[in-house]
Amino acid sequence: MDSLDRFAQEKLAQIDAQGLRRRLVETDRDSATGARRDGQSLISFCCNDYLNLSHHPDVIAAAKTATDRYGTGAGASRLISGNVPLYTQLERKLAELKQTDDAIVFGSGYLTNIGVIPCLVGPGDMIVADALNHACLISGARLSQATVYVYGHGDAAACQALLREHRADHDRCLILTDGVFSMDGDIAPLAALASLAREYDAWLMSDDAHGLGVLGGGRGSSFASGEKEDIPLQMGTLSKAAGCYGGYLCASQPIIDLLRNQARSFVYSTGLPPGTIAAAIKSLEIIETDEDLCAKPLGNAKTFCRFLNLPEPQTNIVPLILGQAERVMAASNALAEKGFLVTGIRPPTVPEGTARLRFTFSAAHNEEDIGALASAVRELEIAA
Ligand SMILES: *Cc1c(COP(=O)(O)O)cnc(C)c1O
Repeated sequence: MDSLDRFAQEKLAQIDAQGLRRRLVETDRDSATGARRDGQSLISFCCNDYLNLSHHPDVIAAAKTATDRYGTGAGASRLISGNVPLYTQLERKLAELKQTDDAIVFGSGYLTNIGVIPCLVGPGDMIVADALNHACLISGARLSQATVYVYGHGDAAACQALLREHRADHDRCLILTDGVFSMDGDIAPLAALASLAREYDAWLMSDDAHGLGVLGGGRGSSFASGEKEDIPLQMGTLSKAAGCYGGYLCASQPIIDLLRNQARSFVYSTGLPPGTIAAAIKSLEIIETDEDLCAKPLGNAKTFCRFLNLPEPQTNIVPLILGQAERVMAASNALAEKGFLVTGIRPPTVPEGTARLRFTFSAAHNEEDIGALASAVRELEIAA
Protein backbone atom coordinates (compact mmCIF):
# COMPACT_ATOMS: atom_id res chain seq x y z
CA MET A 1 0.00 0.00 0.00
CA ASP A 2 1.30 3.46 -0.74
CA SER A 3 1.97 6.02 1.99
CA LEU A 4 -1.16 8.00 1.18
CA ASP A 5 -3.65 5.21 1.86
CA ARG A 6 -1.57 3.96 4.78
CA PHE A 7 -1.79 7.42 6.33
CA ALA A 8 -5.60 7.40 6.02
CA GLN A 9 -5.97 3.87 7.35
CA GLU A 10 -3.83 4.57 10.40
CA LYS A 11 -5.87 7.67 11.16
CA LEU A 12 -9.11 5.75 10.77
CA ALA A 13 -7.84 2.98 13.05
CA GLN A 14 -7.23 5.60 15.77
CA ILE A 15 -10.72 7.00 15.32
CA ASP A 16 -12.19 3.48 15.51
CA ALA A 17 -10.24 2.72 18.69
CA GLN A 18 -11.83 5.76 20.37
CA GLY A 19 -15.32 4.69 19.34
CA LEU A 20 -15.57 7.85 17.24
CA ARG A 21 -15.83 6.49 13.71
CA ARG A 22 -18.59 8.29 11.81
CA ARG A 23 -20.51 6.86 8.89
CA LEU A 24 -22.98 8.38 6.52
CA VAL A 25 -26.43 6.82 6.67
CA GLU A 26 -28.81 7.38 3.80
CA THR A 27 -31.80 9.23 5.21
CA ASP A 28 -34.86 9.77 3.09
CA ARG A 29 -36.50 12.82 4.64
CA ASP A 30 -40.08 13.61 3.67
CA SER A 31 -40.58 16.42 6.20
CA ALA A 32 -38.88 17.96 9.25
CA THR A 33 -40.01 14.97 11.29
CA GLY A 34 -40.33 12.07 8.85
CA ALA A 35 -37.27 10.00 7.92
CA ARG A 36 -36.70 6.56 6.45
CA ARG A 37 -33.49 4.68 7.12
CA ASP A 38 -32.87 1.12 5.91
CA GLY A 39 -36.55 0.81 5.09
CA GLN A 40 -37.60 1.81 8.62
CA SER A 41 -39.85 4.85 9.22
CA LEU A 42 -38.60 7.05 12.02
CA ILE A 43 -39.82 10.22 13.67
CA SER A 44 -36.85 12.55 13.54
CA PHE A 45 -35.82 14.63 16.54
CA CYS A 46 -32.47 15.68 15.15
CA CYS A 47 -33.26 17.88 12.20
CA ASN A 48 -32.60 21.63 12.01
CA ASP A 49 -35.50 22.23 9.61
CA TYR A 50 -37.31 23.71 12.62
CA LEU A 51 -40.32 25.09 10.79
CA ASN A 52 -40.62 22.33 8.19
CA LEU A 53 -40.13 25.03 5.55
CA SER A 54 -37.97 22.77 3.36
CA HIS A 55 -41.22 21.00 2.50
CA HIS A 56 -43.57 23.99 2.48
CA PRO A 57 -45.51 24.01 -0.81
CA ASP A 58 -45.01 27.76 -1.37
CA VAL A 59 -41.26 27.48 -0.73
CA ILE A 60 -40.95 24.54 -3.12
CA ALA A 61 -43.02 26.39 -5.74
CA ALA A 62 -40.76 29.46 -5.45
CA ALA A 63 -37.69 27.27 -6.00
CA LYS A 64 -39.25 25.64 -9.05
CA THR A 65 -40.31 28.93 -10.63
CA ALA A 66 -36.86 30.49 -10.15
CA THR A 67 -35.14 27.35 -11.45
CA ASP A 68 -37.30 27.42 -14.59
CA ARG A 69 -36.52 31.10 -15.06
CA TYR A 70 -32.80 31.26 -14.16
CA GLY A 71 -31.54 27.66 -14.36
CA THR A 72 -30.01 25.37 -11.76
CA GLY A 73 -26.71 27.15 -11.15
CA ALA A 74 -25.47 30.72 -10.76
CA GLY A 75 -22.76 30.21 -13.37
CA ALA A 76 -20.12 32.33 -11.64
CA SER A 77 -19.15 34.18 -8.51
CA ARG A 78 -21.54 37.00 -7.66
CA LEU A 79 -18.99 39.65 -8.64
CA ILE A 80 -18.57 38.17 -12.12
CA SER A 81 -22.02 37.28 -13.46
CA GLY A 82 -23.61 35.13 -10.74
CA ASN A 83 -25.54 37.92 -9.00
CA VAL A 84 -29.05 36.90 -10.10
CA PRO A 85 -31.72 39.59 -9.48
CA LEU A 86 -33.20 37.65 -6.56
CA TYR A 87 -30.19 38.41 -4.35
CA THR A 88 -31.14 42.05 -3.81
CA GLN A 89 -34.54 41.03 -2.53
CA LEU A 90 -33.08 38.37 -0.21
CA GLU A 91 -30.48 40.71 1.27
CA ARG A 92 -33.02 43.48 1.76
CA LYS A 93 -35.31 41.05 3.58
CA LEU A 94 -32.54 39.86 5.87
CA ALA A 95 -31.52 43.41 6.72
CA GLU A 96 -35.12 44.33 7.50
CA LEU A 97 -35.58 41.28 9.70
CA LYS A 98 -32.41 42.03 11.70
CA GLN A 99 -32.87 45.82 11.54
CA THR A 100 -29.51 46.62 9.97
CA ASP A 101 -28.52 48.77 6.98
CA ASP A 102 -27.77 45.84 4.72
CA ALA A 103 -26.88 42.15 4.50
CA ILE A 104 -24.50 39.97 2.49
CA VAL A 105 -25.38 36.42 1.47
CA PHE A 106 -22.67 33.76 1.15
CA GLY A 107 -22.77 30.16 -0.07
CA SER A 108 -23.26 28.77 3.45
CA GLY A 109 -22.99 29.66 7.10
CA TYR A 110 -19.56 28.09 7.24
CA LEU A 111 -18.39 30.16 4.27
CA THR A 112 -19.81 33.28 5.95
CA ASN A 113 -17.79 32.86 9.12
CA ILE A 114 -14.53 31.96 7.40
CA GLY A 115 -15.04 34.91 5.05
CA VAL A 116 -16.13 37.60 7.51
CA ILE A 117 -13.78 37.14 10.45
CA PRO A 118 -10.45 37.49 8.56
CA CYS A 119 -11.75 40.70 6.96
CA LEU A 120 -12.27 42.31 10.34
CA VAL A 121 -9.23 41.23 12.36
CA GLY A 122 -5.73 40.02 11.50
CA PRO A 123 -2.30 39.42 13.02
CA GLY A 124 -1.79 41.69 16.03
CA ASP A 125 -5.52 41.99 16.67
CA MET A 126 -7.48 39.96 19.21
CA ILE A 127 -10.53 37.73 19.29
CA VAL A 128 -12.35 36.90 22.50
CA ALA A 129 -14.40 33.73 22.03
CA ASP A 130 -16.81 31.56 24.01
CA ALA A 131 -15.39 28.10 24.73
CA LEU A 132 -18.30 26.36 23.02
CA ASN A 133 -18.44 28.38 19.83
CA HIS A 134 -19.34 26.55 16.63
CA ALA A 135 -16.52 24.98 14.61
CA CYS A 136 -16.81 27.48 11.76
CA LEU A 137 -16.34 30.49 14.07
CA ILE A 138 -13.18 28.74 15.25
CA SER A 139 -12.09 28.16 11.64
CA GLY A 140 -12.66 31.84 10.85
CA ALA A 141 -10.71 32.88 13.94
CA ARG A 142 -7.77 30.63 12.95
CA LEU A 143 -7.75 31.94 9.39
CA SER A 144 -7.63 35.52 10.63
CA GLN A 145 -4.36 34.89 12.52
CA ALA A 146 -5.55 37.19 15.29
CA THR A 147 -4.66 36.17 18.84
CA VAL A 148 -7.58 34.18 20.28
CA TYR A 149 -8.54 34.33 23.96
CA VAL A 150 -11.19 31.84 25.07
CA TYR A 151 -13.53 32.43 28.01
CA GLY A 152 -15.61 29.85 29.88
CA HIS A 153 -18.93 29.07 28.25
CA GLY A 154 -21.51 31.81 28.72
CA ASP A 155 -19.32 33.61 31.26
CA ALA A 156 -19.45 37.34 30.53
CA ALA A 157 -17.36 38.10 33.64
CA ALA A 158 -14.59 35.86 32.30
CA CYS A 159 -14.86 37.63 28.96
CA GLN A 160 -14.45 40.94 30.75
CA ALA A 161 -11.40 39.67 32.61
CA LEU A 162 -9.74 38.82 29.29
CA LEU A 163 -10.61 42.21 27.84
CA ARG A 164 -9.28 43.98 30.92
CA GLU A 165 -6.01 42.07 30.75
CA HIS A 166 -5.32 42.04 27.02
CA ARG A 167 -7.34 44.72 25.24
CA ALA A 168 -4.65 47.40 25.47
CA ASP A 169 -2.10 45.12 23.77
CA HIS A 170 -4.08 44.84 20.54
CA ASP A 171 -5.40 47.17 17.90
CA ARG A 172 -8.79 45.76 16.88
CA CYS A 173 -10.87 43.36 18.97
CA LEU A 174 -13.71 41.05 17.97
CA ILE A 175 -15.97 39.24 20.44
CA LEU A 176 -17.32 36.04 18.91
CA THR A 177 -20.22 34.03 20.25
CA ASP A 178 -22.96 31.72 19.11
CA GLY A 179 -26.34 33.38 19.77
CA VAL A 180 -27.87 29.99 20.47
CA PHE A 181 -25.28 27.33 21.27
CA SER A 182 -25.91 24.59 18.77
CA MET A 183 -25.08 21.58 20.95
CA ASP A 184 -26.29 22.96 24.30
CA GLY A 185 -29.37 24.93 23.36
CA ASP A 186 -28.66 27.84 25.68
CA ILE A 187 -28.54 31.52 24.72
CA ALA A 188 -25.39 33.64 25.03
CA PRO A 189 -25.38 36.53 27.54
CA LEU A 190 -25.83 38.93 24.63
CA ALA A 191 -26.77 42.05 26.58
CA ALA A 192 -23.74 41.70 28.85
CA LEU A 193 -21.42 41.05 25.90
CA ALA A 194 -22.85 44.05 24.02
CA SER A 195 -22.15 46.23 27.00
CA LEU A 196 -18.56 44.91 27.27
CA ALA A 197 -18.08 45.54 23.57
CA ARG A 198 -19.03 49.19 24.08
CA GLU A 199 -16.86 49.55 27.16
CA TYR A 200 -13.72 48.03 25.61
CA ASP A 201 -14.15 49.22 22.02
CA ALA A 202 -14.65 45.68 20.79
CA TRP A 203 -16.88 44.50 17.94
CA LEU A 204 -19.53 41.93 18.83
CA MET A 205 -20.43 39.23 16.32
CA SER A 206 -23.11 36.63 17.02
CA ASP A 207 -23.69 33.45 15.06
CA ASP A 208 -27.42 32.94 15.16
CA ALA A 209 -27.71 29.81 13.02
CA HIS A 210 -30.26 28.37 15.46
CA GLY A 211 -32.08 31.54 16.46
CA LEU A 212 -33.64 32.64 13.16
CA GLY A 213 -37.24 31.50 12.87
CA VAL A 214 -37.35 30.29 16.47
CA LEU A 215 -36.54 33.09 18.94
CA GLY A 216 -37.65 36.70 19.19
CA GLY A 217 -40.77 36.15 17.09
CA GLY A 218 -38.59 34.63 14.37
CA ARG A 219 -36.01 37.44 14.24
CA GLY A 220 -33.50 35.45 16.26
CA SER A 221 -31.60 35.54 19.53
CA SER A 222 -30.68 39.21 19.32
CA PHE A 223 -34.42 39.89 19.78
CA ALA A 224 -35.12 37.08 22.28
CA SER A 225 -35.18 39.34 25.34
CA GLY A 226 -37.94 41.43 23.79
CA GLU A 227 -35.54 44.27 23.04
CA LYS A 228 -33.05 44.45 20.21
CA GLU A 229 -29.55 43.82 21.50
CA ASP A 230 -26.79 46.07 20.25
CA ILE A 231 -24.97 43.55 17.99
CA PRO A 232 -23.38 45.19 14.95
CA LEU A 233 -22.47 41.88 13.28
CA GLN A 234 -25.36 39.40 13.13
CA MET A 235 -24.51 36.25 11.24
CA GLY A 236 -26.76 33.30 10.46
CA THR A 237 -27.70 30.56 8.05
CA LEU A 238 -30.55 29.90 5.66
CA SER A 239 -30.06 26.15 6.04
CA LYS A 240 -31.82 25.59 9.35
CA ALA A 241 -35.23 27.09 10.19
CA ALA A 242 -35.37 28.69 6.73
CA GLY A 243 -35.16 25.19 5.23
CA CYS A 244 -32.90 26.22 2.33
CA TYR A 245 -29.17 26.83 2.05
CA GLY A 246 -26.79 29.77 2.29
CA GLY A 247 -25.32 32.00 4.99
CA TYR A 248 -25.55 35.70 5.72
CA LEU A 249 -24.23 38.58 7.74
CA CYS A 250 -26.42 41.58 8.61
CA ALA A 251 -24.45 44.73 9.42
CA SER A 252 -23.90 48.40 8.59
CA GLN A 253 -23.42 49.63 5.02
CA PRO A 254 -19.65 50.16 5.23
CA ILE A 255 -19.10 46.68 6.66
CA ILE A 256 -21.24 44.99 4.01
CA ASP A 257 -19.52 46.98 1.25
CA LEU A 258 -16.11 46.01 2.59
CA LEU A 259 -17.05 42.33 2.74
CA ARG A 260 -18.37 42.39 -0.84
CA ASN A 261 -14.87 43.53 -1.81
CA GLN A 262 -12.68 41.44 0.43
CA ALA A 263 -14.33 38.35 1.92
CA ARG A 264 -12.47 35.59 0.09
CA SER A 265 -15.23 32.98 0.41
CA PHE A 266 -17.59 35.52 -1.19
CA VAL A 267 -15.34 36.81 -3.95
CA TYR A 268 -13.91 33.46 -5.04
CA SER A 269 -16.91 31.15 -4.70
CA THR A 270 -19.91 30.69 -6.99
CA GLY A 271 -23.26 32.29 -6.12
CA LEU A 272 -26.11 30.18 -4.77
CA PRO A 273 -28.41 28.29 -7.12
CA PRO A 274 -31.25 30.71 -8.04
CA GLY A 275 -33.92 28.27 -6.84
CA THR A 276 -32.33 28.31 -3.39
CA ILE A 277 -32.39 32.12 -3.23
CA ALA A 278 -36.06 32.25 -4.25
CA ALA A 279 -36.91 29.57 -1.69
CA ALA A 280 -35.12 31.51 1.04
CA ILE A 281 -37.03 34.70 0.19
CA LYS A 282 -40.32 32.82 0.51
CA SER A 283 -39.22 31.20 3.78
CA LEU A 284 -38.32 34.57 5.26
CA GLU A 285 -41.72 35.93 4.24
CA ILE A 286 -43.33 33.09 6.18
CA ILE A 287 -41.04 33.67 9.17
CA GLU A 288 -41.88 37.40 9.13
CA THR A 289 -45.60 36.88 9.08
CA ASP A 290 -46.29 33.71 11.08
CA GLU A 291 -45.29 34.29 14.69
CA ASP A 292 -47.36 31.33 15.87
CA LEU A 293 -45.39 28.98 13.64
CA CYS A 294 -42.11 30.41 14.94
CA ALA A 295 -43.22 29.87 18.55
CA LYS A 296 -43.97 26.18 18.07
CA PRO A 297 -40.49 24.59 18.18
CA LEU A 298 -39.73 26.07 21.61
CA GLY A 299 -43.23 25.21 22.82
CA ASN A 300 -42.63 21.59 21.79
CA ALA A 301 -39.26 21.48 23.53
CA LYS A 302 -40.94 22.75 26.71
CA THR A 303 -43.57 20.03 26.45
CA PHE A 304 -40.84 17.36 26.19
CA CYS A 305 -38.98 18.74 29.20
CA ARG A 306 -42.18 18.89 31.21
CA PHE A 307 -42.89 15.23 30.44
CA LEU A 308 -39.43 14.26 31.73
CA ASN A 309 -39.14 16.78 34.59
CA LEU A 310 -36.15 18.38 32.94
CA PRO A 311 -35.40 22.09 33.49
CA GLU A 312 -37.34 24.41 31.18
CA PRO A 313 -35.36 24.87 27.96
CA GLN A 314 -34.35 28.30 26.61
CA THR A 315 -34.55 27.12 23.00
CA ASN A 316 -35.83 24.17 20.99
CA ILE A 317 -32.51 22.31 21.37
CA VAL A 318 -32.41 19.96 24.37
CA PRO A 319 -29.20 18.03 25.11
CA LEU A 320 -29.06 14.98 27.35
CA ILE A 321 -25.41 14.66 28.26
CA LEU A 322 -24.48 11.02 28.85
CA GLY A 323 -20.67 11.30 28.90
CA GLN A 324 -19.07 8.46 26.97
CA ALA A 325 -19.48 8.12 23.22
CA GLU A 326 -20.33 4.39 23.41
CA ARG A 327 -23.20 5.06 25.81
CA VAL A 328 -24.62 7.73 23.55
CA MET A 329 -24.47 5.53 20.48
CA ALA A 330 -26.18 2.69 22.37
CA ALA A 331 -28.96 5.05 23.49
CA SER A 332 -29.37 6.41 19.97
CA ASN A 333 -29.64 2.86 18.57
CA ALA A 334 -32.16 1.87 21.24
CA LEU A 335 -34.31 4.91 20.39
CA ALA A 336 -34.10 4.04 16.68
CA GLU A 337 -35.44 0.59 17.45
CA LYS A 338 -38.43 2.31 19.01
CA GLY A 339 -38.92 4.47 15.93
CA PHE A 340 -37.12 7.70 16.91
CA LEU A 341 -34.20 9.24 15.08
CA VAL A 342 -31.95 11.03 17.57
CA THR A 343 -28.33 11.12 16.45
CA GLY A 344 -25.61 10.85 19.07
CA ILE A 345 -23.22 13.81 19.23
CA ARG A 346 -19.63 12.89 20.06
CA PRO A 347 -16.22 14.58 20.35
CA PRO A 348 -14.76 16.50 18.64
CA THR A 349 -18.15 18.14 17.97
CA VAL A 350 -18.56 18.44 21.76
CA PRO A 351 -15.85 18.40 24.47
CA GLU A 352 -14.40 15.06 25.62
CA GLY A 353 -16.61 13.33 28.19
CA THR A 354 -19.75 15.25 27.20
CA ALA A 355 -21.12 13.05 24.40
CA ARG A 356 -24.84 13.52 24.27
CA LEU A 357 -28.16 12.95 22.67
CA ARG A 358 -29.31 16.21 21.16
CA PHE A 359 -33.06 16.50 20.70
CA THR A 360 -34.29 19.24 18.41
CA PHE A 361 -37.95 20.12 18.23
CA SER A 362 -39.73 21.38 15.19
CA ALA A 363 -43.07 23.03 14.53
CA ALA A 364 -44.11 19.81 12.81
CA HIS A 365 -43.95 17.61 15.92
CA ASN A 366 -47.21 17.00 17.72
CA GLU A 367 -47.84 16.28 21.38
CA GLU A 368 -48.38 12.59 20.67
CA ASP A 369 -44.92 12.21 19.03
CA ILE A 370 -43.32 14.11 21.89
CA GLY A 371 -45.13 12.05 24.53
CA ALA A 372 -44.05 8.83 22.83
CA LEU A 373 -40.45 10.02 22.67
CA ALA A 374 -40.50 11.00 26.34
CA SER A 375 -41.90 7.58 27.28
CA ALA A 376 -39.17 5.84 25.29
CA VAL A 377 -36.49 7.95 26.97
CA ARG A 378 -37.96 7.05 30.35
CA GLU A 379 -38.32 3.33 29.59
CA LEU A 380 -34.76 3.10 28.32
CA GLU A 381 -33.63 4.97 31.46
CA ILE A 382 -31.63 7.34 29.29
CA ALA A 383 -32.32 10.46 31.32
CA ALA A 384 -31.50 8.73 34.62
C1 LIG B 1 -24.97 24.98 11.26
C2 LIG B 1 -24.18 26.06 11.84
C3 LIG B 1 -23.36 26.85 11.04
C4 LIG B 1 -23.07 26.53 9.60
O1 LIG B 1 -24.11 26.88 8.77
P1 LIG B 1 -24.21 26.16 7.34
O2 LIG B 1 -25.11 27.04 6.57
O3 LIG B 1 -24.78 24.81 7.61
O4 LIG B 1 -22.82 26.09 6.80
C5 LIG B 1 -22.74 27.93 11.62
N1 LIG B 1 -22.88 28.20 12.93
C6 LIG B 1 -23.64 27.45 13.73
C7 LIG B 1 -23.79 27.82 15.16
C8 LIG B 1 -24.32 26.35 13.21
O5 LIG B 1 -25.06 25.59 14.03
